[in-house]
Amino acid sequence: MNIFTTKQALNQYLEQSRASGKTIGFVPTLGALHQGHLSLIRQAQQNSDEVVCSIFVNPSQFNDPKDLEKYPRTIEADIKLLEGVKCDVLFNPPVSEIYDGNEQWHLNIGELERLLEGKFRPGHYQGVTQVVYKLFNIVKPDVAFFGQKDYQQFLIISKMVESLNMPVKLVMCPIMRETDGLAMSSRNIHLTAEDRQHALILSKTLNWIKNNFDRNSLPQLKTQAEHMINDEPGLELDYFEIADGDTLHQATKDANSIVALVAAKVGKTRLIDNVLLVHGS
Ligand code: AMP
Repeated sequence: MNIFTTKQALNQYLEQSRASGKTIGFVPTLGALHQGHLSLIRQAQQNSDEVVCSIFVNPSQFNDPKDLEKYPRTIEADIKLLEGVKCDVLFNPPVSEIYDGNEQWHLNIGELERLLEGKFRPGHYQGVTQVVYKLFNIVKPDVAFFGQKDYQQFLIISKMVESLNMPVKLVMCPIMRETDGLAMSSRNIHLTAEDRQHALILSKTLNWIKNNFDRNSLPQLKTQAEHMINDEPGLELDYFEIADGDTLHQATKDANSIVALVAAKVGKTRLIDNVLLVHGS
C-alpha cells in the first residue's frame, strides 16, 4: 500500500493513475478501523480501479474538545487492516496539511445540518462538510463511499455535492454489525462490558420497529421505542425519530423513504444507529 502524508505526494501519485485511465474510489475515515470501514473499502474496490482511504481525525467536526482528545487513534493496526484488504492508497495527513491555521469559513447546507445530530452536536456537520469538501478537492475521486451508519451525514454530503456541482458520485453502504446486532463503531472500544450489554437495546429497538412497522402508526412506534430504550438501565436517550429519509422531518407513512434514527449515551459513550423502514425509489 502506498502511504502519503502530504497533498503534493498524493497528487503526484493520483495524477499518474488518472493519466493511465484509472477511476478513483475514495473512503474517508477518522481511523480506528473496523469491519464497517473495510466493507466500504471492498465496495470501493468493486466500483473503481484505485482505492484511496483517508485517515484524518478532523478537529473541526468535534464540538467537544474532550471527545476529540479521547477519540481512538490506532494507526499501526489500521495500516495492517488496510494492507490486509489490499487497499491501494492511504492518505494520513497531519492537521497542518489540511488546515492553514485557524480557518473560520464553513459551508451552510441549511436546516439538514441543524436537525437530530446537528441539534446535539452544534457545528459538527459544518466541520464534516468543511473537511469532506477539502478532501474531495485533494483526492478528486470519481466515486466516494460512505456508511448508512451516519445516515444524516450522507444526506448532508449529498446536498453539498449537488449544490456545488461537485463531480463525484456518492455511494451509501450498509451498516455492518456485530453478531449480536450492535452497529460497529470506533467508539465501541470505550464501552465497558456492562455498557456493551445495555447498548444492544438500540439495535433491538430498531429491529422491533422494523418488524412492527405495518401494524402500528408512526407515533405509536416512536412512543414504544422510547419506552423500550428508557426502560434499559445505563442509557440516556438523546433522540429516537422516525423521519422522512430525504428531509429528516417527522415522517408520514406515505413518504417515499422512511428511516428510524436513534442516538443515546451508553455510560460515557455516545452511540448512533438507524434502520431504513421504507427504501426510496
Ligand atoms: P468514521 O471513521 O466513523 O468517520 O467512519 C468512516 C466511514 O465509515 C463513514 O462513512 C461511516 O458511515 C462508515 N461506517 C462507520 N461505521 C460503519 C459500520 N458499522 N458499517 C458501515 N459503515 C460504517
